Amino acid sequence: MTTPSSNDLAHLISRRDRAFGAGAPLFYDSPLHIVRGEGVHLFDNEGRRYVDLYNNVACVGHCHPRVVDAVSRQASTLNTHSRYIHEGAIALAERLAALHGPQIESVLFSCSGTEANEAALRMAQMVTGRKGIVCTDKTYHGNSDLVSRLSLVGTVQPESEAVHAFPFPQKYRPIRPGLSEDELCDAYLERLEDAIRRFEQSGVGFAALILCSIFANEGLPDIPRGFMEKATLMVHRAGGLVIADEVQAGYARTGNWWGYEVSGFTPDIVVTGKPMGNGVPLAATATSRAILEAFRARTRYFNTFASSPLQAAAGTAVLDVIEDEGLRENVASVGAMLKQALIDRRGASAHIGDVRGTGLFLGVEIVKYGPDHEPDAELAFTLSNKLKNLGFLTSNAGALDNMIKIRPPLVFSHADAEEFLDAWDRAVAQLHG
Ligand code: PMP
Repeated sequence: MTTPSSNDLAHLISRRDRAFGAGAPLFYDSPLHIVRGEGVHLFDNEGRRYVDLYNNVACVGHCHPRVVDAVSRQASTLNTHSRYIHEGAIALAERLAALHGPQIESVLFSCSGTEANEAALRMAQMVTGRKGIVCTDKTYHGNSDLVSRLSLVGTVQPESEAVHAFPFPQKYRPIRPGLSEDELCDAYLERLEDAIRRFEQSGVGFAALILCSIFANEGLPDIPRGFMEKATLMVHRAGGLVIADEVQAGYARTGNWWGYEVSGFTPDIVVTGKPMGNGVPLAATATSRAILEAFRARTRYFNTFASSPLQAAAGTAVLDVIEDEGLRENVASVGAMLKQALIDRRGASAHIGDVRGTGLFLGVEIVKYGPDHEPDAELAFTLSNKLKNLGFLTSNAGALDNMIKIRPPLVFSHADAEEFLDAWDRAVAQLHG
């Protein structure tokens, strides 16, 4: 029931706590009440406009008219499950597969990154006949029972019989200091090899390596040259499969279709999710026909809301917009400009430890004064709140929670970037002041 005070933030929060159970996460020291979105903008209940530098789900912009139109037309024509033939869903799968190399032929649709990763892991376990999964030590792949065992950020899960973690590769805080780039690459490969070997020795056997192609949740590290290619070779030699989690990295986020193009490897299974439907739940596990058919034969997999005409309409409209509006080119160009502008600001702010990322997925590491680059998660949180108060939405994230995460909708323009940089300077000045 609506009460006169229902617009009051504190009242809404207490209703939310009761309705959802306290602990459901909210952003910022004073949470936002967002009621409308359009393009790169979100609007709160008082009509205040925010520039969105966080949301990758609304990848072609909030409420993009072509997606809204396609979804509403489909919803008023037909929306049913996938046990009838629907040409739209078939065409979307074909189109998605064609965006990868020849090893990717067929697609299993689902409704979330978690489900799509779960299917990928099970496929790998079924075709190899082994159970062992290797992931990185600060990753997140989803929240089902199986997948949450690999999600080693937040609530830390211990390594288990079926999951071994190795330290994610990075140059900024290297696993061992003083190594050349090639030696550092080898040091990380040794840790991966060790994880694989432990599965072989325990009898569990090694099934797959699963990675976010750009290590998004780990903090977008610069990866020692050659690591991904060599890791893929190592996995294949051990009889395992490589699963690229492209839930964050994919769909033009880096200015390429796929994150694995940036980090330089060829996966056997590709998982996509978040941006695929611009907000309509749509995810996919794409792989060879042989792997997918082995999985289908063993599971008779069915997912009520997946491969639906509605998913097809949303997914097709999103691909159309990315192509027709030249969004890959936009991402590459605006992203390069924004990254350089942030790098240029390093000198002026000792708090900027490092600027990383590709395209419109950038991370700025916030550190304490001093030579040690000590991470400063608290300051990163303060900075993201100051940016929010100026009308710009980011978050603090990464393995150490000290990275300002910049990941706007793909339609983010040069003018939006200029506006953000101006706010960035003002927010940083407030920190120093
Ligand atoms: N993989 C990655 C890399 C993610 O970042 C996430 C969600 N943040 C997931 C998978 C899980 O996706 P979903 O929330 O749709 O289940």
